[in-house]
Amino acid sequence: MAHEYDLVILGGGTGGYVAAIRASQLGLKTAIVEKGKLGGTCLHKGCIPSKALLRSAEVYATAKRAEDFGVITSDVSVDFTKVQERKHNIINVLHKGVQHLMKQGKIDVYEGLGRILGPSIFSPMPGTISVEMNNGEENEMLIPKNVIIATGSRPRSLPELHIDGEYVLSSDEALEMETLPKSIIIVGGGVIGIEWASMLSDFGVEVTVIEYADRIIPTEDHEISKEMQRLLKKRKIKLVTGARVLPETLVRDNGVRISAEVKGAIKEFLAEKMLVSVGRQANTEGIGLENTEIQIDKGFIVTNEFFQTKESHIYAIGDVIGGLQLAHVASHEGITAVEHIAGKNPSALNYQLISRCIYSSPEVSSVGMTEEQAITNGHKVKVGKFSFRAIGKALVYGQSDGFVKIIADEETNDLLGVHMIGPHVTDMISEAGLAMVLDAVPWEIAGTIHPHPTLSEAIGEAALAVDGNAIHG
Ligand SMILES: Cc1cc2nc3c(=O)[nH]c(=O)nc-3n(C[C@H](O)[C@H](O)[C@H](O)COP(=O)(O)OP(=O)(O)OC[C@H]3O[C@@H](n4cnc5c(N)ncnc54)[C@H](O)[C@@H]3O)c2cc1C
Repeated sequence: MAHEYDLVILGGGTGGYVAAIRASQLGLKTAIVEKGKLGGTCLHKGCIPSKALLRSAEVYATAKRAEDFGVITSDVSVDFTKVQERKHNIINVLHKGVQHLMKQGKIDVYEGLGRILGPSIFSPMPGTISVEMNNGEENEMLIPKNVIIATGSRPRSLPELHIDGEYVLSSDEALEMETLPKSIIIVGGGVIGIEWASMLSDFGVEVTVIEYADRIIPTEDHEISKEMQRLLKKRKIKLVTGARVLPETLVRDNGVRISAEVKGAIKEFLAEKMLVSVGRQANTEGIGLENTEIQIDKGFIVTNEFFQTKESHIYAIGDVIGGLQLAHVASHEGITAVEHIAGKNPSALNYQLISRCIYSSPEVSSVGMTEEQAITNGHKVKVGKFSFRAIGKALVYGQSDGFVKIIADEETNDLLGVHMIGPHVTDMISEAGLAMVLDAVPWEIAGTIHPHPTLSEAIGEAALAVDGNAIHG
């Protein structure tokens, strides 16, 4: 049977389901096609499960040092089955929430695999969607005026490091581990790799990170990387940078053994398991792109700033178009695409104003340019830095490592970037994000009186420090 829609969205992850809600608000008759579960990677295999595990690891690590707070505990141990149960419960609550939102918005959800067809009896343009239903019923045919492709991404591996789920894992399998390994090699020291390194180490796993670049979290400001490196090493996490893994040397036998070329020398690494976190690959296969004029570049769908593909009625958003592969980016791309479809004349997203977070211990967050990028872009910079060591609330928390760094243009005073490493900084970055959106200058941030005692005082002090006026520094 054929069903007509104003908009059909292929993929019900964060990008897809948020786009559907916005479309419903704007009065578009909307359907989502989802082959797995509504909520996609972020809810089931990404943001939420990883943060649930990180939180359990943090509680365990804190409980082990409870004595520092004057709290006497007897034996503290981890029940990993319970940890996983807690994670699943959180996912279930949120999954039900998304399902409810679809009902509330009168959004039709087709559970099945969607595929874009070429011109057909239904439409002279490509874009009809055929859905192979999960329940085995006859294919549904959806005839939309517009389509949004939001099929997301999946873990990438390296040739010869194929994921076997037993010895070599991607984040998908690692999230479902039933027991903790004694030791693990993490290939890739980017955001996902470092979150796992921090979490597993807090759970008592012996962790070795092998990173190709000369520093971990290489997309962050160099001082943030350096501080993270120092703090992880202090926790006995082995960090091997400037290292090229030699996948052909991998032996899977009662654990894993692999060699890497590290600054000219060959070194061997052994562990019970290996986690490969070397990036994500867009889901562009099997969705019928060959029936369209849609272009692909380096594996990602190409769009304009309003997320239209070469077929102007077919849009693409989220991880499948690459760039910043983050949930909040996917959802805002979805909102922009829908508003464009609805003729609302939205502004293009400014990616410089999007905050990025790492939920390790300590946390990292940033918005805008790193110091290196600012200099490369021709700015003469001035930098204000303020350590959490001088922040009362950080001492109260028992987490005083890290700092806030603010970069401004020396001539214009413009705010160029804000970078933080330390306690709860992922919850503090939105102040900096708002300052960037409102084009604030450092003294305006400093003039926003930060309540005492709070961790956010570090932002106010760093803003003062840009012109050498920090009070407690
Ligand atoms: C371990 C990990 C931790 C992460 N942590 C964070 C974090 O803390 N913060 C953050 O912002 N981001 C995080 N991310 C990234 C975030 O999960 C993604 O950026 C986000 O999920 C992208 O949303 P999306 O809608 O583009 O795609 P996805 O969430 O991948 O959703 C795509 C959906 O499309 C469906 N689909 C694919 N093909 C078809 C088809 N042919 N027919 C029907 N359905 C189809 C899939 O089943 C899936 O549900 C993390 C990712 C990982 C892996």
